[in-house]
Amino acid sequence: MKPDKYLKNYIAGALVPPESGEYLDNVNPATGKVYSFIPDSDERDVQKAVEAAAKAFPDWSSCGVRKRFRILLRLADIIEQNLEDFALAESEDAGKPVSMAASVDIPRAHENLRFFATAILHFAAESHHMEGEAVNYTLRQPLGVVGCISPWNLPLYLFTWKIAPALATGNCVVGKPSELTPMTAYLLSKACMEAGLPPGVLNIVHGLGPKAGQAIIEHPQVKAISFTGGTSTGRKIAATAAPVFKKLSLELGGKNPNIIFADCDFDQMMVDTLRSSFSNNGQICLCGSRIYVERPLYERFRDEFVKRTQFLKVGDPASPMSDLGALVSKSHMEKVQGYLQLAEVEGGKILCGGTPVEVGGECEGGYFLRPAIIEGLPIECRTNQEEIFGPVVTIQPFDTEEEAIALANGVPYGLASTVWTTNLPRAQRVAERIQAGIVWINCWMLRDLRTPFGGVKHSGVGREGGWEALRFFTEAKNVCMKY
Ligand code: NAD
Repeated sequence: MKPDKYLKNYIAGALVPPESGEYLDNVNPATGKVYSFIPDSDERDVQKAVEAAAKAFPDWSSCGVRKRFRILLRLADIIEQNLEDFALAESEDAGKPVSMAASVDIPRAHENLRFFATAILHFAAESHHMEGEAVNYTLRQPLGVVGCISPWNLPLYLFTWKIAPALATGNCVVGKPSELTPMTAYLLSKACMEAGLPPGVLNIVHGLGPKAGQAIIEHPQVKAISFTGGTSTGRKIAATAAPVFKKLSLELGGKNPNIIFADCDFDQMMVDTLRSSFSNNGQICLCGSRIYVERPLYERFRDEFVKRTQFLKVGDPASPMSDLGALVSKSHMEKVQGYLQLAEVEGGKILCGGTPVEVGGECEGGYFLRPAIIEGLPIECRTNQEEIFGPVVTIQPFDTEEEAIALANGVPYGLASTVWTTNLPRAQRVAERIQAGIVWINCWMLRDLRTPFGGVKHSGVGREGGWEALRFFTEAKNVCMKY
């Protein structure tokens, strides 16, 4: 299943060009060169997609869970059978190492489909008995046409995380992947055709957020929006969708703390802290970007962390030797570099990294940056308050549990956090008090797809994962029957 040079929208079961006839450049971040073109879709394409979804809805929503289960499993199998093609496409589009796309992104995409395909077989609603008088039962009905909008950092992983529960519950979807990383969603449309997904059940419209994305949000027939992306975009989406009472699930930005106590398992903590800081160049919403270390361990931690970070190989995403590939775009790289300059202005000391890497060869024009560690910054500075979403972390010592919790909670975000200690009562005390949707104790990014996933404060509204996602994509209707 190979990428094409000119991508097409997937509407009503067919691959179609955009109504405008216009295309946007798609850049390979590892080379800085345009390598394909994506539809510059607008409200006309979205209108066609919504019409197709609305037409498909009566059959899809009433065909029964077993049929939906079988088709979604087939789709998962096709992705798995084409893992190499999908992984290469994801790497070329996003700049991440092929090894990461092949071991994390694409396997998780087919797992998302399998997880929700099977979950729907076990999904049940409640009943409430009023003794001697009546019985209430709850119907969980699909919403109709729903919008799923995803970001560039884990493209197919997050796109399927949304569309799988939406489709499993019987909705029809108009989806939009990020304009920076459209290729695996395009391959997904080919896979849907091969899997026999009925036309119109899933429609994929490519293009810019404020144009194609906004048209999905605004469309009166789109009943719910599942969005993952930046906090400021989430705010705009809420401002459009809330006044017309659309159901909203918003998974937004983060500024996640790692709290490391001196009694932790040092070796395991180091391995996972390196991963939580720089996996995918720090471009994972769950990456820890503020690291707080109990003072007796601070210097040992700092020296070892700097040493291991300097050892990370930044290079050609196609090479199995590369730990880190390119950042997703030129403007994102400039944004990250801007924060590094700001950190110095704010009095921070860059202990390592932060400089561009000349990879050379094919990758001469790519957006490569050495991962950076900064120390000496207070919690209230912008570097510690704002999401950078790149290979940049700050480190700081703390003296008491109380202080660590105050630092962890001292930002507007609240997505994920990690706590490292062998003192389990303390770990649980801290977990209770951290303002975040996710707390990892002595691990990072260990994911069970049944668990609720999402953030508090400016990191989002609502929860994905497990039953939460199936509940989001259904409307509860209580039926009360007197006897
Ligand atoms: P973004 O907000 O710029 O874009 C996300 C998606 O929204 C893209 O498809 C974009 O085209 C679309 N979009 C933009 N403006 C829109 C509008 N007005 N209407 C409708 N759609 C619009 O985010 P990004 O830069 O692609 O992704 C990075 C951000 O995503 C980071 O802030 C990161 O923390 C966040 N993120 C959060 C999670 C989570 O689970 N909480 C997961 C991954 C990424």
